[in-house]
Amino acid sequence: MSAEQPLIADLFEVDKRLTLKPVVDFNTYLHNAFGEGPCRCHRCVEGAGDESSYSHRHTFELEGRTLHRRFANTAGSDVLLVLKKAWLSYTKNDLITVGTLDMATLLSFTDAALHERLLALLPASGLARESEGQWQLQVQAD
Ligand SMILES: [Zn+2]
Repeated sequence: MSAEQPLIADLFEVDKRLTLKPVVDFNTYLHNAFGEGPCRCHRCVEGAGDESSYSHRHTFELEGRTLHRRFANTAGSDVLLVLKKAWLSYTKNDLITVGTLDMATLLSFTDAALHERLLALLPASGLARESEGQWQLQVQAD
């Protein structure tokens, strides 16, 4: 038995958890949280895309292209709901929904291709904001 075997077993264990349905659902949700092209909501069309007065952004430059956030299902409480399910499934612990968000854990079950979307959606949905290198969860109104 070589010394490398336990490590390989650990990696396999991590991979298996990534196939849990709530984790897959969370990644699918992140993917679908954005649509192609700039936001076409009334406010953006009227303001010709000037978002300087917005508290949360509508249009994003991600993955080398322009995307907009789909509002209908990306309120902070919506994001929190799918995140909680994935978190519980992946870590076997409930997500602590106040204070600092453990980004290392969150990124470990977020598909690397979706990290940009995650980092855009957290503040845009109002779920969390970055402050001095830490992500702080915001209280969600239902
Ligand atoms: Zn808009």
